Amino acid sequence: MSDYYAVIGNPVAHSKSPLIHGEFSRQTGQDMRYEKILAPIGEFPTVVTEFRQHGGKGLNVTVPFKLEAFRISTHHTERADAARAVNTLVLEDEAILGDNTDGAGLVRDITANLKFSLTGKRVLLIGAGGAARGVIMPLLEYEPSILAVANRTQEKAYELQQRFSSSGNVVAIDYADLHGEQFDLVINATSASLNGELPPLPAGVFAAESLAYDMMYGNRDTPFLQFAALQGVTHFSDGVGMLVEQAAESFFLWRGVRPRTDTVIEMLRSHA
Ligand code: NDP
Repeated sequence: MSDYYAVIGNPVAHSKSPLIHGEFSRQTGQDMRYEKILAPIGEFPTVVTEFRQHGGKGLNVTVPFKLEAFRISTHHTERADAARAVNTLVLEDEAILGDNTDGAGLVRDITANLKFSLTGKRVLLIGAGGAARGVIMPLLEYEPSILAVANRTQEKAYELQQRFSSSGNVVAIDYADLHGEQFDLVINATSASLNGELPPLPAGVFAAESLAYDMMYGNRDTPFLQFAALQGVTHFSDGVGMLVEQAAESFFLWRGVRPRTDTVIEMLRSHA
């Protein structure tokens, strides 16, 4: 019987993961099946146990279970520890390995697909939720000159500054203090775009030749990307590349084979 994998979340119906992993397994000839699992709130650990009893080998974890996935993992990768959130579970014989591939997916999309060099750049990350936390460590590995974090609830950005203070130049900044500051890369890791909202960014926040990156996928015309265009930005991206790259990292973790991502990104863009 084929090895069994799934994405688990609530809601999960919208997930593109089965499509992406289906393409990866076709492309690499891996004998596996990949499904969607809707876990009732409060029943995440039970559903994972049942999945394992049915021969499940690995899970992608989506909203709202990334923190619970961290808690039920018996050991973590360093990047999952840094994020304190898990988006990939490897179900081993007795143990559960928790990893977080979101950050690796983002930096691969930015550096390899969009050919944007992070080293020495001024980076502004807006948002301090699960997605933001997962990308800080991988971004710092590229040694930006500064990684500023702005969040609506300011304390969360200050917590991140403290948590990552020994790893690089992470600075919490209030939205109001962004006036007069310019960045080479602005990453929208808020969920504002999901509600058609724009975080309170001031005019002039984008430096010349800057990249505006919205983690949201499925809509390349978000209020954030529209705002960037009005500010004269010409390099943009939504989060489709990140989505496919984080999936490729999970696939590699499970199967030891790195799939091609460019064709899958292209396919998802043409379906959007
Ligand atoms: P969370 O709910 O954990 O965090 C949401 C963040 O957005 C918080 O920092 C919140 O601020 C902020 N926020 C929400 N609304 C607004 C607003 N109107 N103005 C300013 N800030 C706002 O969500 P996630 O971190 O899990 O997800 C964030 C985004 O990233 C989503 O769009 C998600 O789809 C996307 N994502 C994309 C991935 C990809 O592969 N492309 C992977 C993971 C996530 P506060 O703390 O004040 O509430």
